[in-house]
Amino acid sequence: MTDVPISSRIAAIAESATLAVSAKAKAMKKQGSDVVGFGVGEPDFDTPEHIKQAAVAALEAGKTKYTPATGTPELRAAIAEKLKNDNGLDYDPSQIIVSGGAKHSLFNVIMTMVSDGDEVLIPSPYWVTYPEQVKLAGGVPVFVPTSAESGYKLQPDVLAKHINKGRARLLILNSPCNPTGALIDPDALEAIGRLLLEANVSVVSDEIYEKLIYNNRKHVSILKLVPELLETSVLINGVSKAYSMTGWRIGYAAAPKSVAQAIGRLQGQSTSNPCSISQEAALEALTGDQSCVEAMRSQFDTRRKLMIERVRAIPGLTCPEPDGAFYLFVSFAELVGKTVAGVKINGSMDFCDVLLDKGHVAAVPGVAFGDDNCFRLSYATSVERINEGLDRIEKLLAQVG
Ligand code: PLP
Repeated sequence: MTDVPISSRIAAIAESATLAVSAKAKAMKKQGSDVVGFGVGEPDFDTPEHIKQAAVAALEAGKTKYTPATGTPELRAAIAEKLKNDNGLDYDPSQIIVSGGAKHSLFNVIMTMVSDGDEVLIPSPYWVTYPEQVKLAGGVPVFVPTSAESGYKLQPDVLAKHINKGRARLLILNSPCNPTGALIDPDALEAIGRLLLEANVSVVSDEIYEKLIYNNRKHVSILKLVPELLETSVLINGVSKAYSMTGWRIGYAAAPKSVAQAIGRLQGQSTSNPCSISQEAALEALTGDQSCVEAMRSQFDTRRKLMIERVRAIPGLTCPEPDGAFYLFVSFAELVGKTVAGVKINGSMDFCDVLLDKGHVAAVPGVAFGDDNCFRLSYATSVERINEGLDRIEKLLAQVG
């Protein structure tokens, strides 16, 4: 077989470290194994009925054609309205670009704002996609460590030490965070914003988990706390997580006018508009009855508390309590170098392999997010499955040697 040359740009993209485990979990399930899935990054609820009905109505009304490349005027206006009402931010609809999921919005923004050699600050642990998109744009990821002791919240003084003035272009901020669930406190968020302003660094604020927050905490955008950043920075959000609409693929960027126009050109020459039917569904999600959001959030909260309690009761595992998203980022550092069910644990790939092979529990190795002594558990599954999965992990970790 002849090797087809792959462009240097694409060849440099790392394969997701999560793939191996999830492919294996899928294969085991196919062969009839009862695998408990804690690996998923999406809500397990069905999309709420009124949203599905809006899509059906759109289909029946023949809304099956191209829309403007940057999204329908109605949806862009509804997003601007949402940003005003929920976040206290003033955007003109022309500053909103609707894309095929928040991941696509991020891709467009990073491609638009990052030039060759630009440094992009990424708090670590990080969502797997950020560094790969930065590299694709020719940028250089600069990881800013956070620690379990501070609940994985980005500390302004640590950030300051990593800002390379003149070279740092962007900070990608994700609060609440995937994979840690960390929600940065408003004071720290404001301090981070002031620091960025002073260093002339823009922020891309990925607020996709804004509706999934617990412990009576509230979401506040860094762009609200430091409004001067609005002139240089971008907010990313979407309907995937808040409305359980991961498959519909609708996300958006709210950007300064010149950036929005540039993203519009990129999208116009690449994917063109996101799916017309999905846009109608997203319009209903944002403008219709919001009670579904709280109903799902409160179920997540019940599961979060249960999972924290169960994890913390297992010797060898520790995790801070997260205030947001639907993940626990759990350390097994005490078990590194030991054996579990006869298998030596050198890092998170070994650990997650043992969980899967011996315990039939799927989880995501922390190495994918920049921490090889941790693993990510998603609680986007039922209370029964959480108990079943944690029973199995508990039993397995009783066999430490
Ligand atoms: N940002 C973060 C932090 C995420 O965890 C995800 C999905 O896992 C996304 C963005 C992408 O969301 P979407 O499904 O809208 O592309």
